[in-house]
Amino acid sequence: MTDMINKETQAADVQPAAADKAAFDRSALKEKKRIVIKVGSSSLVHEMTGELDLYKLEQLVRLLCDLSNQGKEVILVSSGAIGVGRKALGLGKRPDTLPLKQACASVGQAALMMIYQKLFNEYNQLSSQILMTKHTIVRDVSRRNARNTFNQLLQMGVIPIVNENDTISTDEIEFGDNDTLSAVVASLAKADLLILMSDIDGLYTDDPYCCPDAQFLECIPVIDEHLYDMARGASSDFGTGGMVTKIDAARIATDSGCDMIIANGRDFRNIHRITNGENVGTLFLAHKNKNFNLTQYIEQRHGHLK
Ligand code: GLU
Repeated sequence: MTDMINKETQAADVQPAAADKAAFDRSALKEKKRIVIKVGSSSLVHEMTGELDLYKLEQLVRLLCDLSNQGKEVILVSSGAIGVGRKALGLGKRPDTLPLKQACASVGQAALMMIYQKLFNEYNQLSSQILMTKHTIVRDVSRRNARNTFNQLLQMGVIPIVNENDTISTDEIEFGDNDTLSAVVASLAKADLLILMSDIDGLYTDDPYCCPDAQFLECIPVIDEHLYDMARGASSDFGTGGMVTKIDAARIATDSGCDMIIANGRDFRNIHRITNGENVGTLFLAHKNKNFNLTQYIEQRHGHLK
């Protein structure tokens, strides 16, 4: 699967962003106007109990409202539906059947949105919900409608809150992870910055938790085979799961002309630091790949959908 992706990377018409000093100058990030921020479940819940971390949620909402007050257009991609639903339904362990998972998502998504709307309302900030599946992207009418809806909402100063439509998603139509979903949203909405709030500071040459020699990578000008090899070959889960998915997300975002940053979601103030031009997280530089086609990419990667 990744081989196919890597071959695409080598296409002659992919122009690496100028690798000069200016391209690495983080102060350019201050000028970003349309920003997608992805927050994973692990950044939203208490590690010990799995219950929502209300302090962090409030902080996140306040930060996003402030970005909107600065005149930025903000899209939030938030996970948490299944986890919140599971807690609400009093289930001890992760749901192990599809109907149970979807029931959890149904309860949890509504509960999560109620909390988000309550918090956004405190700052007089309108927010809305958009739930997507791969069908949204591969069907021309749905894709156009979704893009128009994002544009309309952002024009009116609303902050859309996006998640996968977990209640109806099955293997064939699900993105499966919100890293991919957020990159798809960034591409669809023609965002100029995507921030993935992760459980790690950014990209390392190896797993920093077990390899003291692991080096932090501040900037990735080009996503190539070498980068995938590094992520795949690194020790522990660091290499086999999360990071490859994040590099895939970076492929979608940067080929669509959107810079992407992976930063640590333990401290949401990193969002403020990034948009203030500070050197936080790993920055993947946008490329101009005029041949990138989101629908084709999704179909190539996930198979043809009816
Ligand atoms: N859509 C899932 C949820 O809201 C999360 C997927 C992910 O965390 O990547 O629970």
